[in-house]
Amino acid sequence: MRAYIRGPLAETAAGAIAADVLKACVHCGFCNATCPTFQITGDELDGPRGRIYLIKQALEGEPVSRLTQHHLDRCLSCRACETTCPSGVEYHRLLDVGRAEIATRVARPWHERLARRTIRFLTGHRQLLRALLILGRKIPAAQPKRAAKPIAAALSRKMSLLTGCVQSAAAPHFNASTTRVFAAAGIGLTETPAARCCGAVAFHLDAADEARAHVRRNIDAWIAELDAGSEAIVVNASGCATFIRDYPDVLADDPEYASKAHRVARAVRDPVEVLRESPPIAASAPANPRIAVHDPCTLRNGPGLEGAVARLLSGLGYEPQPISDTHLCCGSAGSYSLLQPTLSHRLRADKLEVLTANAPAAIYTANIGCWMHLGETSSTPVRHWIEAVDAVLGAIQETQTRETP
Ligand code: SF4
Ligand code: SF4
Repeated sequence: MRAYIRGPLAETAAGAIAADVLKACVHCGFCNATCPTFQITGDELDGPRGRIYLIKQALEGEPVSRLTQHHLDRCLSCRACETTCPSGVEYHRLLDVGRAEIATRVARPWHERLARRTIRFLTGHRQLLRALLILGRKIPAAQPKRAAKPIAAALSRKMSLLTGCVQSAAAPHFNASTTRVFAAAGIGLTETPAARCCGAVAFHLDAADEARAHVRRNIDAWIAELDAGSEAIVVNASGCATFIRDYPDVLADDPEYASKAHRVARAVRDPVEVLRESPPIAASAPANPRIAVHDPCTLRNGPGLEGAVARLLSGLGYEPQPISDTHLCCGSAGSYSLLQPTLSHRLRADKLEVLTANAPAAIYTANIGCWMHLGETSSTPVRHWIEAVDAVLGAIQETQTRETP
């Protein structure tokens, strides 16, 4: 599909990215078959092909409206459409450019602006966010407590661990489990205090410059760590990892940071990528082996790690149950669950139905957003999969006061 990008964007790297993506699309519509929002609404403009047209029109200088913004807002950024596109269209790269362009041309009503500002503010204030999540009964007040476990191996390797913003407020025990599991594998994990929020929340909520400030700060912190011998940046929230892998696009028009952004993006690892290289050995059998594994879209469709967590846990004695419609998003999608509750809740209900069809003892996932979203209504405990590894690596005494949010 030919595209003639007009206006200031035409001279930018972001404009070139959009033109390349548009050129690859042949308008066949195969992508609609795997799009969750198209499957629910049946509206062409709620599918990837329709959204690509909307973005093309916007970038070519045609009028845009609240309706254009409405259909782009309803996109989950799940990238399921990319998995069925025969032309290899990198839809998410176009979506980011299109959303940013439309944000500069279409004013949102005050309540939408307020909601976006509030979410961005809270992600930067951990203690306040945690207090509100507890008050709103979104997370338990007490985190799982475990007895300290002696480190089994000498720490011959070192990696950096993303502290995170929402996760460090809602579920700090994920990082604690990750650190213990990596220590058992001989890898010392260091949290880098200067690198906190990955910037995805601001970027997806009409605040691209604010997001770039997060991104530059993180890059500076991690480049220093990599220069000091850190092998990789471990990110146990797959949504954050996906955004960090996109740092080169986010800073494509910043010559000072472009190559550093590529270096950081190449260094990102989900914990499963590291652990599958030398799988851990269980010291004890799982107490409740029958489980369901929910691969977040950001684990499946970005880095292509579908099934990796289930395989790792199977090797430790767990019994992941078959799940249908794994390509469909659970509806979390960052702040989507707050801003698009109708579609989000429908997707969650469908996802929980398939995840619990075989009566698992627990649901394991890989992203803080999915953990909070599914756990909010699930009667089956929802956990991060690293906790399942942690549970069988040593004599861990779990004294959870409450299983999940
Ligand atoms: S499947 Fe790919 S080429 Fe076909 S319309 Fe969708 S994005 Fe375009
Ligand atoms: S990213 Fe997901 S919701 Fe958005 S168009 Fe693609 S499949 Fe549909």
